[in-house]
Parts: sequence; structure tokens; C-alpha cells
Amino acid sequence: MIKSTKVLPSLSLLALLVTSAAHAETAPEKTDVLLIGGGIMSASLGTFLEELQPDWKQIMVEKLDGVALESSNGWNNAGTGHSANMELNYTPERPDGSIEVKKALEINEAFMISRQFWTAQVKKGVLNNPHSFINSTAHMSFVWGDKNVDYLSRRYQALQKTVLFQGMKFSTDHKQIEQWSPLIMEGRDPKQKVAATWTPVGTDVNYGEITRQLIGSLKKNDNFKLETSSEVTDFKRNSDNSWHVTIKDAKNGETRSVDAKYVFIGAGGGALKLLQETGIPEADKYAGFPVGGSFLVTENPEIAQRHNQKVYGQASVGAPPMSVPHLDSRYLDGKKVVLFGPFATFSTKFLKNGSLFDLLSTTTTKNVIPMTNVGMDNFDLVKYLVGQVMLSDEDRFAALKEYYPNAKKEDWKLIQAGQRVQIIKKDEEKGGVLKLGTEIVTDQQKTVAALLGASPGASTAAPIALDVVKQLFPEQFKSAEWQEKIRKVVPSYGKKLNDDPALAQQVWNDTAATLQLTKPPVINMAGKSAEAPAAETSKASEPQYNMAL
Ligand SMILES: Cc1cc2nc3c(=O)[nH]c(=O)nc-3n(C[C@H](O)[C@H](O)[C@H](O)COP(=O)(O)OP(=O)(O)OC[C@H]3O[C@@H](n4cnc5c(N)ncnc54)[C@H](O)[C@@H]3O)c2cc1C
Repeated sequence: MIKSTKVLPSLSLLALLVTSAAHAETAPEKTDVLLIGGGIMSASLGTFLEELQPDWKQIMVEKLDGVALESSNGWNNAGTGHSANMELNYTPERPDGSIEVKKALEINEAFMISRQFWTAQVKKGVLNNPHSFINSTAHMSFVWGDKNVDYLSRRYQALQKTVLFQGMKFSTDHKQIEQWSPLIMEGRDPKQKVAATWTPVGTDVNYGEITRQLIGSLKKNDNFKLETSSEVTDFKRNSDNSWHVTIKDAKNGETRSVDAKYVFIGAGGGALKLLQETGIPEADKYAGFPVGGSFLVTENPEIAQRHNQKVYGQASVGAPPMSVPHLDSRYLDGKKVVLFGPFATFSTKFLKNGSLFDLLSTTTTKNVIPMTNVGMDNFDLVKYLVGQVMLSDEDRFAALKEYYPNAKKEDWKLIQAGQRVQIIKKDEEKGGVLKLGTEIVTDQQKTVAALLGASPGASTAAPIALDVVKQLFPEQFKSAEWQEKIRKVVPSYGKKLNDDPALAQQVWNDTAATLQLTKPPVINMAGKSAEAPAAETSKASEPQYNMAL
């Protein structure tokens, strides 16, 4: 018989061990900032914060087993450095026939901030070999038919009055356009009425590579930790307004927790669900609608070597701007490929690696009505999406041949790109509206910020990160110290380059030199008056201009 005197101490010891083990497992790790998601948005914010406040501890959690595996991955997006050079949806036509350039200027200014951010990182050695992530690729718009040719000509005239679109050329001449881009003209009916614009200042960007390099550099700091295969599942607010965040190990299902003073939800398509999990009242205004994209791709080197542009066309009626067709030269995995698309796809998943229940699980009693209203108000879009989902291989190939008449089927295969979640927002008047841009949603206490939507996309990661900094840390943002540090990274921050030709030229030249891009054209505004952004975007021109393509 075992003596109770021996049993009791053993049991107490066991209990102590169990309790302390349990305690060790559940004791939350403390951090200043928790970055949720290993995409370009969290990577850019983490890099800015490292610059602004290097003593802050940052933890980045990513549910997949590596970073840049969702939308930021090079193969999951179109890699366009959106500057509005060729994306026609950023220059809608006003009812009086004039062209609205306000949005185009905003997009271009935003990309200039990203260019400066990447330049600063190359200079610091955070990003290496610019050609690994950004390459000069002429940007062209290409249209056919009287109406579209006339529109493109008026668009060109309007952009000529601006500083940021200097260097652009326009032509309706088949021979000239063939010189700019042989593949789109060879085999084309010589009588077809066509027009194109061309500018040498366009770029192709591998956002996945930027993400990997930024995070790779952050990981070298003792204050930064990356945890992959780690899915955030729950939030609770602590009494001091910080957040108690539950994280599930995607491999063994075990949970742990982190106490974070500030949380950034940069989870791409997963952001809406996490925002709802925080329980902040601001979340109730939003719902999401997923639209995926697929591309035809060719890796045939003979084709890839002959196509060195990004050629964007005109969208069909009802098409969301992300579905504007384009024939793109891309640099991916160290080789040149050509992509055509995107074709809209539909799945109820909010992430490419998400769950089929994503749409259902983010639909709540609070957002179901706005969602229904949006469906009813956007019949053209619904019709378009249904049409896209029904497309056969033949249909997709026929669409490609409109841009590349001599295309051969055997050179092309279809790949599935990323998933995007469009924002549906409550609206007093309409019940709900479809928002095609990006929104940063923060709580009143300024301790959590979520990034919803995906537009204009990764191109604007740097200005978006700065907006998050401004909203989440308003006091520090205003301080002389942070302002000075921000300007070290983005020298033109706070200024409109379109209003200042000399500064625009300097930023263009400096960034081109460091990023090893084509030498920019000389900005010469003599005799031209710089276009002041028009006051109001008319109702007729409102649709869908601000989405990544
Ligand atoms: C078809 C297509 C074409 C596009 N083309 C362009 C283009 O040409 N130019 C452009 O600028 N932009 C483009 N975009 C948009 C661009 O890809 C996105 O805006 C950008 O990559 C978003 O970055 P992100 O960091 O927010 O999201 P992501 O890169 O998706 O990263 C979010 C990360 O969060 C992780 N995550 C999600 N939930 C959780 C959780 N609960 N816990 C932990 N981690 C989580 C995900 O696994 C993912 O890795 C395109 C997008 C698509 C889909």
C-alpha cells in the first residue's frame, strides 16, 4: 500500500507542474505591434515602423507556411505599377465629353510615394538588386472603333496638360503602333480604326519579391519576429485598451496568445472576418464580396522576348475595372512571361487558400441588407460576372486574339490568380454601396486598424502604410521626429508633384536612377498650364475607377 504521506507531496508536485506548464502555455507574449498577414501591406507598415520607432517590438503572424503566398505573390496579381498611364478607368468621361483626370493624378502621385519608399530601401540595403522586383515596361492603352479612338485622343489631350503624364505619345497609325508593340498589330485588319498611347515610364513590379525582401530584412532585427503557420482566430480587448489575440498553430491546432498594444489587420481577403472578430462597432458597416481572377499565360520565350509592354484595353459594359483586358509583359521567377486577362472568376472563398464558408461566415444580420441592395443596384456587374464564369476556353482565346491576332492556342494555359474582396458599405440612402477602393477602418481608441478592399492595390502599399501610421498613431505622426523620418524615406511626402514640375522631375530621376529604370522624359511645361484637378467627380463618371487591375 502506498503511504498517503508520500502520495500527497507527489500529487502537489504534479499539480504544480501542470499549473505552471498550463500557465507557461497561456501566458500571453507581449508586443507593441501585431501585424496580421505576411503580405506587402504588413511588410511595408512593419518597415516604416522599424524606421520610425526602432525600439518597438513587432510580431508578424501569417497563417500560411511562408510569406507572400496570397495576393501579393507575383503569380497572383498582374504586377502593374499602377500610375494611371494606361488604365482607362481612372480617366472617366464627364457628361460634357471632357475627361476627368483627378483620379489618374491621385494614382500617379501614390505610386511616386511607393517609388520613393522602394528607392530608400534600396539605398539602405533592405531591398537588393532592383531588377529582382521592378523593371521598366512601357505602358500602353490600345483601343479600336470610332468612339474609343475619339475617347483616347481626348484622354491624351487632357493628360498632356499635367506634369505627371509628360512623355506620353499618341498615335492612330498602324505602323507606329506596331513599332511600339508588334504583337498587337501583326495579323490585324489594316483597315481597323485603332489608337494607342505609349509611355516609357511604366513598370512591371514583383510585389511578392518586395514582400519577401522587406520581411527578410525586418527579421534581422531583434525586435521583430515572424511566426508562420499561425492563424489569428480571436480578439479580446484588455482593460488598458490593448488587445489579447488568440493565435492557432495551423500545423497542430494548439493555441497561444499575444497581448498587443496596437494591431494591424493586413490579412488581405481575411481582413473583414478578423475585423468582425474584434467586435468594434465600426465593423458593422461592412460586408464583402469576393471576385477572383484568372490569366492566360505563355512562357514561350519567342513570344515573351517580343512583347515588352503592358497593353491595357477598354472594359466591356458592366465589367469591374479589375477585369479590363491587358496583355502584359512580366518578369517572374527570373524569366520573362506574357499574361493576358484577367478573367473574373467566382468562389465563395475570400482568400485563394481560404475556406468555401468565408462568404457565409462574414454575412451577418447587420450586413445582409446592404449586400442585397448592392446586388440589386449593380445588375450590370452581376450580369458581367455571370457571363465571365460561363466563359469557355474558346471564349477566352477569342478575347486574347482581339489583342494578339496571331496567338496560337497551344502556347497558352490558364492559371488561377488571387482572390479579392470588394467592400460593401452601409449607406444611409441606398442601404449599401459597392466600394471599389481601399478603406482603413480603425476603432475610436486608435489601437486597431484593418485594411479592407484591394485597390488600387500593392502599387500603393507605401502610401497606404503611411495612412495607417497617421490614423493609428496620430500624436507621434505629427511629431517633428516622425515627420523628419518620414521625409527621409519619402522626400516629397505632403507635396503634390503635379503642382511642382521641378520636384516631380527630381523624384522621377532619382527613383529611376536607384531603381535602375529607363531614364524619364524631360518635363517641359512651357506653354502648357498644369491641370488643376477638377472639383467634383460627376455621378455619371463615378463607377469603378479605383480598383486594382
Ligand atoms: C487578379 C489580381 C490582379 C491584381 N493586379 C494588381 C496589379 O497589377 N497591381 C497592383 O498594384 N495590385 C494588384 N492586385 C492587388 C494586390 O495584389 C493586392 O492589393 C495586394 O497584394 C494586397 O496585399 P495584402 O498584404 O493586403 O494581402 P495579401 O498579400 O493577400 O496578404 C494577406 C496575408 O494575410 C494572411 N492571413 C489571412 N488571414 C489570416 C489570419 N487569420 N491569420 C494570419 N494570417 C492571415 C494571408 O494568408 C495572406 O498571406 C491584384 C490582385 C488580384 C487578385
